[in-house]
Amino acid sequence: MTSSVTAPARDRLRIAIQKSGRLADPARSLLASCGLSWRESRDRLFCFGETLPVDLLLVRDDDIPGLIADGVCDLGVVGRNVLTETGLARGASGGAPVFREWRSLGFGQCRLAVAVPDSWQWTGAEQLSGKRIATSYPGLLRQWLEAQGVDAEIVLLSGSVEIAPRLGQADAICDLVSSGATLAANQLKPVETILESEAVLAGPIAEFDPVRAGLAELLMRRLEGALRVRKSKLLMFQANRDALPRVMPLLPDAETPTVMRLDEGDSLALQALCHGAVTWQRLEELKRAGARGLMVLPIEGMLA
Ligand code: ATP
Ligand code: ZN
Repeated sequence: MTSSVTAPARDRLRIAIQKSGRLADPARSLLASCGLSWRESRDRLFCFGETLPVDLLLVRDDDIPGLIADGVCDLGVVGRNVLTETGLARGASGGAPVFREWRSLGFGQCRLAVAVPDSWQWTGAEQLSGKRIATSYPGLLRQWLEAQGVDAEIVLLSGSVEIAPRLGQADAICDLVSSGATLAANQLKPVETILESEAVLAGPIAEFDPVRAGLAELLMRRLEGALRVRKSKLLMFQANRDALPRVMPLLPDAETPTVMRLDEGDSLALQALCHGAVTWQRLEELKRAGARGLMVLPIEGMLA
């Protein structure tokens, strides 16, 4: 396989996202929060971009790296687990690297972990020596086993990996975990993390032609803003001037607040852009320190 990104010049950008599944809705809403909108086609495989020349292709997540490699799509939203595994598989069959992670997107968090039966007393990776490990991620597992210097047999399964030990197909597994509930239900426990994953924007290693490069740059800038906004809140409250030394250190990762003097007495109105989580506990602490009328507002947009 030696496909490369040499698609004919296009004046529109095409982004592949998952059609349905865990990453489908969050990917779409993140792109929508960058000001993109689409006219949906009847079969909903292709969505034509309206506000910007940025179209969507709705596909299975596993196909996304290959579509970028073949130049069918310019960018894609896919789990780091899938992107890395596909890259390793292409490398193993002699393909040069053609795609890479452009940036992480802050959703779809999970980890690829080795899990063993609850009954095992875990002492370390060498315990897997000579064992059979079921996984859908042979490339990542092989790489990790080699790094650990462990020789184990990889049993490739495309789904339902977690029941393999009970069926006698394998001794241990290597699979995606988020809460761990599925593992627990199968009397397994995670013992080693192989990869920390989340959804990422994937793109080619090679440069785009100028038109698509411009669109991709615009999108990256808007993504930056959209992702920052997601985590940020505007905190508004009042406090007396003498309470400020106690209140200010409690503001969660805030930029310098705007302070406005109110007509009566010593009372001040403050607003602070907070980049950290504004929890109930933090609000209660602020109140105890002398803040009144606390209000937390979501932020629609931000352009620094
Ligand atoms: P498709 O039909 O597109 O092939 P799928 O069944 O492979 O769908 P999903 O189960 O929707 O895919 O998972 C998509 C991605 O979501 C995973 O590759 C992973 O990056 C991420 N993810 C987050 N949490 C989990 C989890 N607990 N289990 C599996 N994937 C998770
Ligand atoms: Zn898939």
